This record gives sequence, C-alpha cells and structure tokens, in this order.
Amino acid sequence: MYKTMKKEIKKRLSKKCLCCGREVRVIVYSKSDYRGGHFFGKLPLTTKAEDKKSFEAGTHIEKIGDFEMNVLNIDPKPYAFVEYWECPKCYWGGRLKVNTCNRIVVK
Ligand SMILES: [Zn+2]
Repeated sequence: MYKTMKKEIKKRLSKKCLCCGREVRVIVYSKSDYRGGHFFGKLPLTTKAEDKKSFEAGTHIEKIGDFEMNVLNIDPKPYAFVEYWECPKCYWGGRLKVNTCNRIVVK
C-alpha cells in the first residue's frame, strides 16, 4: 500500500480559518493529501428559526459508554454547509510559539 511517490502539487487553495479568520494556504497533492491547513468536514449553517425550533424541542441524555451527553431532540435543518478549515495555529491550540504556517515548504 505504501508506495514512495514523488509528490506533485495539484493545486493551491486559499481557505479561511473559521477560528481566527485568517487565510489558510492549502497545498493539495491529491484528494486526501494536503498540507497547510486542517479540514474538519462540512459545517451545517442553520437559520435562527431552525435553531429556535430545535432549542424548543428540548434535549435528552444519551449515553456513550460511561459518557453522558445532552443531545438535541430535533437537529436544526441546515440550509447550507460551509467547509470547516482551521489554520495550523488554531489547530494546535495556539500553544506553539513557532508559527507553523511559516514552515510549509513549497517546492
Ligand atoms: Zn486560525
């Protein structure tokens, strides 16, 4: 499975970090291989009315192993999705002193 392949940059993307709002420069090698940012999938966008409906429907406790959590009875229906990206600084919790964005090597 693990072949050594020379990585070829397919494209460069410019995304926005949803945490701090700054630009995330992403270098894409293939569909599942990219550097420079952290992608968490798509985040649903909901209207205030849907949020309200969901909130008013209340919550219930759901158990996962020993872990209990409050789960919405009705999920708000999203009207759109936004890609959720985080810049490396936010991803690492801002604990790193070195700005990891500067360490991306572009060949
Ligand atoms: Zn950020």
